Amino acid sequence: MQDLLKLPFFTDEHRALVRELDTAAWAHIWPDPEKGDDAEALRAALATLAEWGALKHTVSEPWRQMPNVLAREVLAYHSGIADLAYVMQALGSIAIGLMGSDTLKTEMLPAVASGEACMAFAITEPEAGSDLAAQTTRAERVGDEYEITGIKHLISNAGVATHYTLFARTGEGRKGISAFLVPAGTPGLSVEKQRPTSPHPLGRVILEKARVPAGNRLGQEGEGLKLALMTLERCRPTVAAAANGFARRAYDECVKHLRQRRMFGGTLGDQPVAQGILAEMSARLDASRLLTYRTAWLFDQGEHRQAREVALAKWQATENAQWIIDKALQLAGGLGVLHGSVFERLYREIRPLRIYEGASEVQQLVVARAILESP
Ligand SMILES: Cc1cc2nc3c(=O)[nH]c(=O)nc-3n(C[C@H](O)[C@H](O)[C@H](O)COP(=O)(O)OP(=O)(O)OC[C@H]3O[C@@H](n4cnc5c(N)ncnc54)[C@H](O)[C@@H]3O)c2cc1C
Repeated sequence: MQDLLKLPFFTDEHRALVRELDTAAWAHIWPDPEKGDDAEALRAALATLAEWGALKHTVSEPWRQMPNVLAREVLAYHSGIADLAYVMQALGSIAIGLMGSDTLKTEMLPAVASGEACMAFAITEPEAGSDLAAQTTRAERVGDEYEITGIKHLISNAGVATHYTLFARTGEGRKGISAFLVPAGTPGLSVEKQRPTSPHPLGRVILEKARVPAGNRLGQEGEGLKLALMTLERCRPTVAAAANGFARRAYDECVKHLRQRRMFGGTLGDQPVAQGILAEMSARLDASRLLTYRTAWLFDQGEHRQAREVALAKWQATENAQWIIDKALQLAGGLGVLHGSVFERLYREIRPLRIYEGASEVQQLVVARAILESP
């Protein structure tokens, strides 16, 4: 991965982070969630990342994009479950860092960085996915508490998380949504498992008059949607980075295969059509990584409003990764589709990234609107 890291986007600190994390990740035997319980695999991966001190960047104050982007690219290359364990700490805690009370920050952020707290982010509902403002979960103020009732679904870490950053309606319209930190053990909160394409703790979170102290509200009443969008804006470049990690793994495995697979008196890599595909993989991978590093670099320079750059990175990196992985699997032939093949695993791992945190079509809208509305 050291190739693009020579570019001026990066500091010696970034290069050291990649070197150390990548070396540790190669030496580690990651839990295989295909062979057991995805929740257990996630907990084990989280404990390993905590032991390495890698989670500190997920709560960096002020938030730094580049270390998170680099960490996800490295982790996704090695293990989807490790990447998920990493990012959920960020996704679930950014709102606390941005608008939590001092008490919540002091209590929660060190616990997130040490892996003692395991985080989730719960905004999606059966009738509120891409249209986040359609939230129906309600939070009623009752004395010093809020009583929350509603259903969230497709929530990563459901059933594993110790804490949910959860969004519920305290009023009407876009400005009637608020954010809360809800501990998993809250009476009235229950979870039902859902199963995506690849092992990934996921589920429905059902709240029936679940009560949380008013001090667990993040920000003021009505600031929930703003907080959710600020969180997603910080996390989307890291989704792009994870896609780049999966794609780079498929690319490296494909190059090995092209060199080794004997056919027609030579190797598959000697075939001009295979060479054309490889060249396009390489172009798409570099383009995706450069878009991702650009948005991370701009953010770390203080440019926090760059809707077009963030959306371009998320959209292009996830779509290119799907293309690269599909072509790598194609060139692997029949063995590529068998369970246990790295290509088959990556093919399932990459699929949700084109949908979650804003589907590709939503990112296209953001890009187009940013262009049309610019002066
Ligand atoms: C594995 C996985 C993990 C997830 N983890 C979480 C989590 O941790 N927390 C959480 O809150 N949510 C999570 N989600 C939910 C995810 O964010 C939503 O699935 C996503 O936002 C899309 O919402 P939806 O599924 O309701 O699809 P819909 O909103 O119904 O959209 C369906 C499709 O319509 C298309 N579309 C949408 N809008 C437009 C448009 N404006 N123009 C044209 N086409 C459009 C897109 O192709 C989209 O995929 C997760 C989802 C998956 C699959």
